[in-house]
Amino acid sequence: MHREADYLRIMSNFATKIVKWYTQHKRVLPWRFQETEGVNLYKTWLSEIMLQQTTVPTVINYYQAFLVKWPTVHHLATATEEEVLTAWQGLGYYSRARNLLKCARMVVAEFNGRFPTTEAQLLKLPGIGPYTAAAILAIGNNTKATAVDGNVERIMARVHAINDPIQTAKKRLKELAKSHVPHHHVSEYTQGLMDLGTMVCTPQNPKCDVCPVVAHCQAQKEGIENQLPIRLTKAALPEKFTISYLSLQDDHILVRRRTEGNLLKNMIELPSVPWGTDPVAYNVSHTFSHFHIRIQCEQTATIPAEAINGEEFWHPLDKLHELPLPTMTKKVLKFGKIHL
Ligand code: SF4
Repeated sequence: MHREADYLRIMSNFATKIVKWYTQHKRVLPWRFQETEGVNLYKTWLSEIMLQQTTVPTVINYYQAFLVKWPTVHHLATATEEEVLTAWQGLGYYSRARNLLKCARMVVAEFNGRFPTTEAQLLKLPGIGPYTAAAILAIGNNTKATAVDGNVERIMARVHAINDPIQTAKKRLKELAKSHVPHHHVSEYTQGLMDLGTMVCTPQNPKCDVCPVVAHCQAQKEGIENQLPIRLTKAALPEKFTISYLSLQDDHILVRRRTEGNLLKNMIELPSVPWGTDPVAYNVSHTFSHFHIRIQCEQTATIPAEAINGEEFWHPLDKLHELPLPTMTKKVLKFGKIHL
């Protein structure tokens, strides 16, 4: 009995220290508005979708521009996919943008424009996985939910000195994270852990001397905080190759809409041969999450048939910036000295 009571006391101490530290040291971010504006799950959802796989400094401008353009989920639901993709260009992982629009439309059609407030309902919406569902509820609605991202995994692995590789310890790390979530101040606690992971318990050289939970940290006690978490090294990413054709005529450029696959679907690119594994003498490279694309950019007036997909069109060079161009295409254009 005593041991359990002690355990609970220590756990609540942990959360209390995080919340107290957060109120004093939190980063000022545009989506941290709850204290002044109250609950707005649309804004929390928008920021969380943008923050998936993208850093905070990059997201800030996009987040603000989206809210100017589409201040509510009702506004966003009326946008076209092209408009959303164009506003999203540069953020990468474009399936997020397509799901963003689908999700906004579902929230309006099925929930009358109010985001649902259970994890089960949120998980049914496009683009919302377990982390995002928990983050929306915990951060936006102050509901008890466990949002586990890389920051939280790292902090848990260190606080509890978990020596198993992070890839195989995920379930245990989530359970540990869950055991720490307090009944009150869930929003501050959740954001506090994220800030702690970004500012103090950093991947390299954690600043244990200023850490609010150093007294709870087993890794620090054992002097192994720099060795944790253990990560299995990622296999080198495979390569794909293509040739892209830069064709100009009367201040227009030949571009096309991507129709194949899901990656970059409906984004605009240059006519290119299908991506394959035969190496080319490339001059542009871009890395997606699962592979590198190596691109040989050629300036030409005649495009080979294999690079035509039927969605080509001539577009004025001075209006290129209005198209949803992925970073990969922007790199090819830059190589071809086409300025946006
Ligand atoms: S004491 Fe150090 S390793 Fe432990 S949680 Fe704090 S910053 Fe991270």
